Amino acid sequence: MDWTRSKTLALASNGCAHCRGLGLRDLLGGKQRPCVCVFRSIFRICYLRFQDCVTKEKHLSHVSFELHSGPNRRGTWGRKDEEFIADFSAIARRVLDDFEHRIFRYHFLLGADWRLCTRQLRMDRGTFFHAVYRIEKKMGQEFGEVEPFALYPVDEYFNALPRQRVIKASEPPPKKPSVIPIRPPIFHQLFGPVRKAA
Ligand SMILES: [Zn+2]
Repeated sequence: MDWTRSKTLALASNGCAHCRGLGLRDLLGGKQRPCVCVFRSIFRICYLRFQDCVTKEKHLSHVSFELHSGPNRRGTWGRKDEEFIADFSAIARRVLDDFEHRIFRYHFLLGADWRLCTRQLRMDRGTFFHAVYRIEKKMGQEFGEVEPFALYPVDEYFNALPRQRVIKASEPPPKKPSVIPIRPPIFHQLFGPVRKAA
């Protein structure tokens, strides 16, 4: 995703001390990156949708047809709710370390509050909440940036159609370095220099 101020502004926390509610932070070299508060907002949006997918009655989940772009333009049938649950869980497994994943499982999947988590995992309250912030930041970033199908924006994940995507021209191939062909003078070696007929 190309992070622009118009995208991050709505997600940023008004009281954020790092970005002052703008959602972007300046890096060295003049580049800008989304603030942690933006990634945490993305996590919360996706987590709400995840809870909705997990808790809704199974007969409400429906099969949807998704068209593919490309030369044959075939499509596939899929169950988006189940795909979202699987992607959400796979990203947690991929980006979190073992310690963070245990907290993720207890707190976000099983619903244990901080008192129960700190007692079971034998840690203090500060360590627990620091880990929760890290989890939200890591997963929110991955939800927004994972290719080719980001979980955020959630509406695009569930309703993406090829014609709704921005179609860009493909990048030109990298310029090849100029090559000097090797032509051994075989003819001249065998027959000598060519002379024009008089
Ligand atoms: Zn911020």
